[in-house]
Amino acid sequence: MIKINVDQGLCLGCGSCEACAPEVFELDTKDFKAKVKKGNERLAEASLELSPEQIEKVKEAEGNCPDKAIKME
Ligand code: SF4
Repeated sequence: MIKINVDQGLCLGCGSCEACAPEVFELDTKDFKAKVKKGNERLAEASLELSPEQIEKVKEAEGNCPDKAIKME
């Protein structure tokens, strides 16, 4: 399991993470902060089972986030 956190205070709502990994991130249209997708839930932090390909995409999203709001462990 990979734990992914989007710091809601840091997120600028640019949408870059959703563009990189749309199966993992979604920009919340209410508060314009990115959330982690887990089933039907949209969460600031979630633990997910990801394929190696998805992990690479999340790493890319983490690296590209302009405000370093994404953490994964
Ligand atoms: Fe927010 Fe970073 Fe995603 Fe942009 S890339 S929406 S700042 S978490």
